[in-house]
Amino acid sequence: MTIERVAIVGAGMAGLTAALALARRGIACDIIEQATRLEEVGAGLQVSPNASRVLAELGVLKTLEPVWNEPDHIALASGLSLRALANVPVGRFARERWRAPYGVLHRTTLQKALLSAVEKQPSCRLHLGARLDHPSLDAFTAITGHRPDLVIGADGVWSQVRTIMPQAPVPTFSGNIAWRLTIPSRKAPPAMKVNAVTAFMGPGAHLVCYPLKELDGYNVVAISTGLNPGQTWQAHASTRQHDLLMQQFSLWNPQIRELLSQARDATFWPLYEVERGRWHNDSTTVLIGDAAHAMMPFAAQGASMAIEDAARLAVHLGRPGPLPARLSAFEQERVARTDKVRNRGAFNRFAYHARGPVRLARDAVLSLRSPQSLAADLDWLYGYDACDP
Ligand SMILES: Cc1cc2nc3c(=O)[nH]c(=O)nc-3n(C[C@H](O)[C@H](O)[C@H](O)COP(=O)(O)OP(=O)(O)OC[C@H]3O[C@@H](n4cnc5c(N)ncnc54)[C@H](O)[C@@H]3O)c2cc1C
Repeated sequence: MTIERVAIVGAGMAGLTAALALARRGIACDIIEQATRLEEVGAGLQVSPNASRVLAELGVLKTLEPVWNEPDHIALASGLSLRALANVPVGRFARERWRAPYGVLHRTTLQKALLSAVEKQPSCRLHLGARLDHPSLDAFTAITGHRPDLVIGADGVWSQVRTIMPQAPVPTFSGNIAWRLTIPSRKAPPAMKVNAVTAFMGPGAHLVCYPLKELDGYNVVAISTGLNPGQTWQAHASTRQHDLLMQQFSLWNPQIRELLSQARDATFWPLYEVERGRWHNDSTTVLIGDAAHAMMPFAAQGASMAIEDAARLAVHLGRPGPLPARLSAFEQERVARTDKVRNRGAFNRFAYHARGPVRLARDAVLSLRSPQSLAADLDWLYGYDACDP
């Protein structure tokens, strides 16, 4: 079966990248997005070389390079002493080793760059302010005026499209929440470095910060145990939630505690994971991005996996053969890849949040690793080419 027209639900990283990748193969796309306009939701994103390679191929990278930061390295540091424990080089090193850059930017900057590229594609049509509550082929036809050959559910962790999929994966609350703060450069504590992504690690929690050009300051995300506020990207902290945050960081360095104590008005997200399940129904519908496999942000790979999914789905749909076989091949390949990334995230979670003797052993092992050997551990992740036919 030749795919000529698809409906994509969701104009996030997965949906917009899929539209661009499919348009290049001559497949027309209707993108259905509930938001009336794309505004600031979420926070900063680290875009690793496996994703920036896809963005380069789709012609989007050149609009990001002038507005993002390319840190020199990713630093792992103790949240208690602030001592640097290890560095993974990125910056020029990433461009040479993985043939693509490592950048940090605001999520909205990436979304807008993708959107502007989609708008230039005559075969892509965007339907903003169109929320889909009961997905069905008739519902898509009513919004777009066409019956799609395939529906792509790129509608995020609380996907509606997933609800019509037999044996679909289920989202569960991880028990962790992510706090988001921004700090103007002039107020940043000395531990925040302008040329690095820094991950501070401490018992039961970690905190990541990096400079964003858009803010003239730092994006800070603190991850620890917390109470579930329900399905939201942006909950406002209650006193109880903030007290819980301060408890989690009670043993941390005063510089970090001071920062967090001022975060009473900060927003936070509950961290949900989408576990294993079927991503397609053999005929009309397939899931990509967080709708299929939302993961904890311990490897900073959720958006990058969404971008990879989009590129790989376009490759598989461009191949000959029956559609169910192509969808199955896509799912099989992507489950293997995203499982591996998830495992890496679980390892990072164990290492970042370690306590007692495990923490001491971690610090000793990390101090012995050279930057090059830590980078070599990431070749399988950052060297991956999702556009490979
Ligand atoms: C704290 C934190 C830090 C992170 N840091 C990183 C990082 O550094 N690097 C990285 O790669 N990833 C990171 N991630 C993960 C990343 O943000 C997500 O994996 C990524 O945004 C998923 O993209 P998506 O397009 O699949 O879904 P989303 O970005 O959630 O987009 C889904 C879209 O679908 C729309 N939609 C939903 N339901 C409907 C409906 N019923 N009808 C119409 N439209 C609908 C939504 O409005 C939205 O626009 C982080 C996540 C968190 C929580």
